Amino acid sequence: LGNKRLESVVLSKMNFESFVRDLLLVRQYRVELDLVETFVEDSELRKSCQEDLLRRFPDLNRMAKKFQRQSSNLQDCYRVYQAVGQLPSLVLALERYCGKHQVLLHAAFISPLNDLVSDFSKYQEMIETTLDMNQVEHHEFLVKPLFDPTLSELRENMDRLEKAMQAALNSAARELGLEAAKTVKLESNAQIGYFFRVTCKEEKSLRNNKKFTTLDVQKNGVRFTNSKLSSLNEEYTKSREEYEEAQNAIVKEIISIAAGYVDPVQTLNEVIAQLDAVVSFAVVSHAAPVPYVRPKILEKGSGRLIVKAARHPCVEAQDDVAFIPNDVTFRRGEEMFHIITGPNMGGKSTYIRQVGVIVLMAQIGCFVPCDEAELSVVDCVLARVGAGDSQIKGVSTFMAEMLETAAILRSATEDSLIIIDELGRGTSTYDGFGLAWAISEYIATRLKSFCLFATHFHELTTLAQQVSTVRNLHVTALTTDSTLTMLYKVKKGVCDQSFGIHVAELANFPKHVIANAREKALELEEFQDISRAVEEAGPEAKKRCLEKHEGERIIEAFLAKVKSMPVEGMSDEAVKEELRKLKAEVIGQNNSFVNEIVTRSAKVKLTSA
Ligand code: ATP
Repeated sequence: LGNKRLESVVLSKMNFESFVRDLLLVRQYRVELDLVETFVEDSELRKSCQEDLLRRFPDLNRMAKKFQRQSSNLQDCYRVYQAVGQLPSLVLALERYCGKHQVLLHAAFISPLNDLVSDFSKYQEMIETTLDMNQVEHHEFLVKPLFDPTLSELRENMDRLEKAMQAALNSAARELGLEAAKTVKLESNAQIGYFFRVTCKEEKSLRNNKKFTTLDVQKNGVRFTNSKLSSLNEEYTKSREEYEEAQNAIVKEIISIAAGYVDPVQTLNEVIAQLDAVVSFAVVSHAAPVPYVRPKILEKGSGRLIVKAARHPCVEAQDDVAFIPNDVTFRRGEEMFHIITGPNMGGKSTYIRQVGVIVLMAQIGCFVPCDEAELSVVDCVLARVGAGDSQIKGVSTFMAEMLETAAILRSATEDSLIIIDELGRGTSTYDGFGLAWAISEYIATRLKSFCLFATHFHELTTLAQQVSTVRNLHVTALTTDSTLTMLYKVKKGVCDQSFGIHVAELANFPKHVIANAREKALELEEFQDISRAVEEAGPEAKKRCLEKHEGERIIEAFLAKVKSMPVEGMSDEAVKEELRKLKAEVIGQNNSFVNEIVTRSAKVKLTSA
């Protein structure tokens, strides 16, 4: 093992293997897309599969599990029989396709389905020879009476009882003045056995007729019986129970043989599931408001994600949305990290999520909602979106956000796509911004993954000046005094407005809350301007700036007190005295800005005197 040459041979073999694996992976994605293309292009085949043929298959995975546990019953065995019976018509429909992916369609579906038909031939035979198909029509799953003399005897009795019940129906119809098998019917179910049923419209004919007893009233009508039908039903139920007991040994035998078909049922499940997925992809790709297009899949490591006029498949599907498409471009070494700023409700989340969805859709083999897509295979799509806490697990919203982000930073590679929708807003502005900055820098410079980062921290946009692969994008809005119109167009550059108060206004907030919010925001903005000036200037200027701000506050408080003086009931002397006191208080605070004003006004007084 100390042998360096051997080590390098092993390493290069490993690299070669992963290279081959990646190559096969890309091939696999392309094959999936070819299959979807087959069904997108052939509308007739797509429609017949989706609307008719595939609907006839039960949950085969569940059936396989039941077969394995030997907990299936004759009905389950019949359902698998029925599913296998549908295969020839499915194969026939697939064989009618004569487009460019004929060979592929044959390899992926037609040939495995044909193999399955022959794998199940004995199974089909067994079900046909053992199951009483006449009774299946009435949803009764019983063994054929021929198998055993006791069964034949019981069947004869049950047939006789059925005839008698039919006669009971005719006489009930006469009694009620209705038409047998049309306005009054004889039906049965597993819970109550045989009963009569009339629709709710005909219910009046039953009223006040003591010969009939109502069993229940449902949407599809009134179920009722009479003494004759009741006793026949009782007899029939007894015979049926005896029949089931007598057929028990044969049923067990059938179920144990069926248990030997677990593998083919599972294979059938896989082939049908794959076909179902491919057809479903083709259906959504074709039925979308603007049909999806086939993406071009590039090998992993190609370092390119380019989507022209991308759309969000769920948002565009809403009736009242006219979706505005947007481009996205990632190129390794050039632009790999996009910071998206802009107004609330401006479409930032939608934009970054649609990119994630498109990449995912392409890699599961589906067409994608855009005009053109060229996508390198990514090893994962890592998303930190939405806020959610988990009180049960003792995790706060902010902690959940941090845990998710930590997991992203640990697992992302340069072939991952990272989507971050707001980060660090659950803590103080400075901590939050610090975290957002550090995380972004780490992703942009160390991980070098494809990353979309939507944020309200406008200061983050300066990262683009420090890291060459970081780009700023923004969404825009048009505002007037009373309206806010979102444009949903993603453009290059920075947007330094959030329009949060406009959005609150649209949400019908009380007017005074909005007014207060505007005032407070303005105050903070001014404060920020001061802080910014303070940061940019030297320590002296910094001190002066803070003194000025504090001085303005002192003057405002002084003026408020003067305004609230009850001057009406005060003598001139008392007013002067009170003013002197207030002035002394102001001077006592020893603020240089205030002192300057006081000195200046004293000078002005002297000069004018
Ligand atoms: P916030 O900052 O408040 O989280 P946001 O900028 O992330 O807001 P989104 O949640 O993406 O905004 O978008 C808000 C709504 O705008 C969406 O639910 C959708 O109805 C609409 N919208 C977003 N993007 C588009 C688009 N490109 N075309 C049409 N409508 C869009």
